[in-house]
Amino acid sequence: MINLASLRGTINQVDEELLQLVIKRWELVKELQQNYGISTDSLFTKMIDLAKKDKDDQMTETIDQLLREFTHSNINVENKAVKQQRALLYSREYQKEDTIVTVNGERIGDGNPHFIIGPCAVESEQQVREVAEVLAQKGVKLLRGGAYKPRTSPYDFQGLGNEGLEILSRVAREQNMAVITEIMSVNQIERALPLVDVIQVGARNMQNFSLLKELGRLDKPILLKRGLAATIEEFKFAAEYILSEGNKQVILCERGIRTYETATRNTLDISAVPILKQETHLPVIVDVTHSTGRKDLLIPTTKAALAVGADGIMAEVHPDPAIALSDSKQQMNLSEFEEFHQKIQDYLNKHQNEVVYS
Ligand code: PEP
Ligand code: MN
Repeated sequence: MINLASLRGTINQVDEELLQLVIKRWELVKELQQNYGISTDSLFTKMIDLAKKDKDDQMTETIDQLLREFTHSNINVENKAVKQQRALLYSREYQKEDTIVTVNGERIGDGNPHFIIGPCAVESEQQVREVAEVLAQKGVKLLRGGAYKPRTSPYDFQGLGNEGLEILSRVAREQNMAVITEIMSVNQIERALPLVDVIQVGARNMQNFSLLKELGRLDKPILLKRGLAATIEEFKFAAEYILSEGNKQVILCERGIRTYETATRNTLDISAVPILKQETHLPVIVDVTHSTGRKDLLIPTTKAALAVGADGIMAEVHPDPAIALSDSKQQMNLSEFEEFHQKIQDYLNKHQNEVVYS
């Protein structure tokens, strides 16, 4: 008869062997994952079935539990390995060189500053033309303007919609400019596509994942704005949604985030620019109008943005801001724009030999 002590000794020995086998198995799974990216899920399902064959209920349950523990630890190892292996598409690890998005001859991301200017909203053909003519004279190539407006109140002016797109497109062609405008939902894409050169995703839509995915399937540059209170990581992942569907022409736009500060409309997160330039290969522009909401800050914030390496600036101009149907307080009038343009040109001429970002 086997005595209790020796039975316990044998069980301990089996446990020890089991433990060694578990460790060995775990290391093999890790190796398989890291080197070949292969999952062991299907093997496990088979093992569970085999192990349960001809065993009584209690034993089946024990085997089940044990194998499930294994599976869990496998999944953890696998997830980690997959994450380590796959560099995110926006990252510098994935692509070292800067992405350059070419629109109407402007190579956004090429190291030179680019300007995206225009009214907050398209209100009439006359209004857009008045602005576009002045911009074109100053050499601005990228005309912005909202046709579909995301407004806080549903009773505020919602934009001219399709008619607004037609106006923008007509005036832009006339002035040899490209059109940048916001698309708020998937069902607006088809109408917009032939009329628009860059599709803007507004701050309120930064995490509209179905819209991002759909835009990712287009062959059209996308200007992605940072969400109202989005972290830089969330912003980068929103870009990843577009990139992961195949569209590589993504421009990031810092437009200020919500903080407790009330002196400005939003808080311009100026450090987001060098962070995004370091961590992604995508062009980064700064919307000085929506981030500050103050005309008196447009020149200094533009200088700051360019000094920290922004690839461009977005700003709003209206022929008569006092009667603008949206953002009337923050848009420059035409002579204010001319002054803005002159001061920024002077600044650029003075600093043209300085490398602001490397
Ligand atoms: C805009 O640029 O017209 C706009 C609405 O900006 P945001 O989405 O950044 O608020
Ligand atoms: Mn606006």
